Amino acid sequence: MTEDDLATRKMQFLYALRSKGVTDARVLGAMEEIDRGPFVRGLFAERAYEDMPLPIACGQTISQPSVVGLMTQALNVTPRDKVLEIGTGSGYQAAILAKLARRVYTIDRHRRLVREARDIFDELNLHTITAITADGSHGLADQAPFDRILVTAAAEDPPGPLLAQLKEGGIMVLPVGQSDAVQSLIRVHKTATGLEYDELRDVRFVPLLEGLGKD
Ligand code: SAH
Repeated sequence: MTEDDLATRKMQFLYALRSKGVTDARVLGAMEEIDRGPFVRGLFAERAYEDMPLPIACGQTISQPSVVGLMTQALNVTPRDKVLEIGTGSGYQAAILAKLARRVYTIDRHRRLVREARDIFDELNLHTITAITADGSHGLADQAPFDRILVTAAAEDPPGPLLAQLKEGGIMVLPVGQSDAVQSLIRVHKTATGLEYDELRDVRFVPLLEGLGKD
């Protein structure tokens, strides 16, 4: 690919995001700054600038960029926020969050994905991200509470420990529903009087699984 081709593809990438409803200037800025290329390895690297989910290692997927944009926008991240992401995958979503937040913790159940994501964070000088191998459905008690929580794998219901680790005034965005069906992306607001839920759109994510992966 020539430099001109790459520039054209990146422009089309941002245009696709806008046309699918990603309109927040800070989110678009972060997505312009973080190149998706390095997060998509191997066979599919050529297709990094298409608005498509793509396969990554350990049988997982890097989410569709417009879905990443819409989820990030729904999370309404501010520069003071400490954010928890469940489902590091390629590390792409965490890198975008790092451009918007003060601190990002990201958890995946696959050791290999965490290791590879850490290498990219180092290469890109993203030193405010801590990537951890664990079962993220328990959250990260020793760093709680969090201003924002983003879950990028689908559970049937919002995991209790994550709701508990959300700060009052905090926001959590997550897909809920059966893994083999269309799921619903929801946003939870934690207020002084309880939890408020709103439904954002239909999505399809890999399931939130228990325990650690084999690799
Ligand atoms: N946010 C990622 C895409 C996530 S794909 C990106 O930007 O590329 C969903 C990820 O959730 C997978 O990597 C999968 O291993 C992880 N996952 C599934 N169940 C999990 C759990 N209980 N704890 C932590 N990670 C989990």
